[in-house]
Amino acid sequence: MKTYVIIGGGIGGLVTGALLAKEGYQVTILEKNAIVGGGLQTFEQHGVSFPTGMHIFGGFNKGENLYKLFSYLGVLDRIMLCATDEDASDVVTMMSEGKTYRLPRGKDCFIAYLSECFPAEKANIEAYINKLFELSEEEDLFYLRESPEHQLSHSEDFLGSVSRLMDRYITDPKLKDLLTYLSPLFGSDPQTTPAYIHALLSTLHINGTFQFVNGSQQLADALSWVIEKAGGRVLANKEVMRMAIENHQITGVYTYDGQCYHSDSYISDVHPDVLLRIIDPQAFTNAFKTRIQSIPETLSCFKVFIKFKDKAFSYQNHSRFCLSDSKDWPQRLMFVTPPVANQGEYAETMVILSPMEFGEVKPWENTTKGHRGDDYLQWKLTMKNKVFHSMERLYPKFRDTIEFAFAASPLTIRDYYGNKEGSNYGFRKDCNNLMLSQMSVATKVKNLFLTGQNVNIHGLCGVSLTAIETAEALVGRNRIVQKINESR
Ligand SMILES: Cc1cc2nc3c(=O)[nH]c(=O)nc-3n(C[C@H](O)[C@H](O)[C@H](O)COP(=O)(O)OP(=O)(O)OC[C@H]3O[C@@H](n4cnc5c(N)ncnc54)[C@H](O)[C@@H]3O)c2cc1C
Repeated sequence: MKTYVIIGGGIGGLVTGALLAKEGYQVTILEKNAIVGGGLQTFEQHGVSFPTGMHIFGGFNKGENLYKLFSYLGVLDRIMLCATDEDASDVVTMMSEGKTYRLPRGKDCFIAYLSECFPAEKANIEAYINKLFELSEEEDLFYLRESPEHQLSHSEDFLGSVSRLMDRYITDPKLKDLLTYLSPLFGSDPQTTPAYIHALLSTLHINGTFQFVNGSQQLADALSWVIEKAGGRVLANKEVMRMAIENHQITGVYTYDGQCYHSDSYISDVHPDVLLRIIDPQAFTNAFKTRIQSIPETLSCFKVFIKFKDKAFSYQNHSRFCLSDSKDWPQRLMFVTPPVANQGEYAETMVILSPMEFGEVKPWENTTKGHRGDDYLQWKLTMKNKVFHSMERLYPKFRDTIEFAFAASPLTIRDYYGNKEGSNYGFRKDCNNLMLSQMSVATKVKNLFLTGQNVNIHGLCGVSLTAIETAEALVGRNRIVQKINESR
């Protein structure tokens, strides 16, 4: 039986591990945190549960990619999901217009709604949204289709920038802003982000999004169950400090608690910057290391976690985006009221995210959690109040609804995931230099493979699909896609 050690128990590590376990291989996951899950992990504050990095995602409509993948893995009945509202899957407020758009689920409804809001652009909207779906069709894995051995080349539109594509179809600048409402919060910039990323994310959102009921930890636990049921191990509190190399092969990985783990092959789900720090220096050439270290990161964010007073704030069954008209931070907000079992009329909690540059927290970059100093705490309080101030433009007396609230900064995110500069979504893809941030699942080290958001696309969908690619690099091209499609 072949054995695999996976470094990092985030979405990428767990899905890759579960797929390999289902193929009959012996998998060991080594996770540095006390609980596995990475972006799926939930945590408790004063007995109340909050998500760390999974709020809203697509792919779970019957027949869509994640529905089929997780059904194949046998975990669908172990997780509780809730579809966002039919008539308002994402709700976007444009402060400059004082207008709120309630974007419905489903391509036809989405086109019809936007055409009503922007009647002069009706034909353009239809052509543009059809184009986005057409571009998504260029990605076989997105539709769980078998892919040819030699990847066919992609269209110019697929690889070009979002803004170049959009400029060809849409003329109204307000509509352009609206159509890119996901961009800042999902780590992209219309000028440089390749259109295919925008097309895939938009397709997922237009088809309709979902939230976990009672938190995303249940998916991490379900995937761990798949691995353990097949005889594998999912080990927490196992921070890898060294990956030893001999003759271009990994010979073992060492954790800080003095243990060493051996296997036939190794898979890294950690940020490539972390990988370069823990792997023996001769593993990669200096040119490769310089390339990896020069890839810019996507933005980090400032997060506010809120527990509401009893019956103080209505539950919202959608994600809410707010694009501010001000030049001051926070210019963009995204917030959700995570659903609980038997969700009633009122929300228990809310999570608010606002994109933030790492430079904001540079003065404290060499500090560790709990020891960042009073000036940092004061800064955090100021930022939290700015977020509340913005929220009060939408909900006057918002502060009165709060029982308690606390914040996390890019430093929290950096230290929790090990992501460089606390980047939310890993490497920034630039259509002007796609090769720079392009990573392959196979590496120059014979028995080392990569998975996770830096290989291709971030998020639950992007990372889970990459996990299929990583697993297929080990078990055979299209083998897993075939099995997913054959399974019921
Ligand atoms: C604030 C925030 C909000 C987000 N919201 C959403 C959302 O709503 N929807 C969505 O689809 N995506 C969202 N994302 C993105 C999503 O969470 C990520 O794309 C996803 O978690 C990446 O998965 P991964 O496996 O690549 O990395 P991770 O989930 O980060 O996993 C990497 C794991 O490696 C572990 N690790 C690091 N170093 C070591 C080491 N030396 N030894 C052992 N283990 C190590 C880490 O602890 C971590 O568990 C969000 C991200 C953030 C930060």
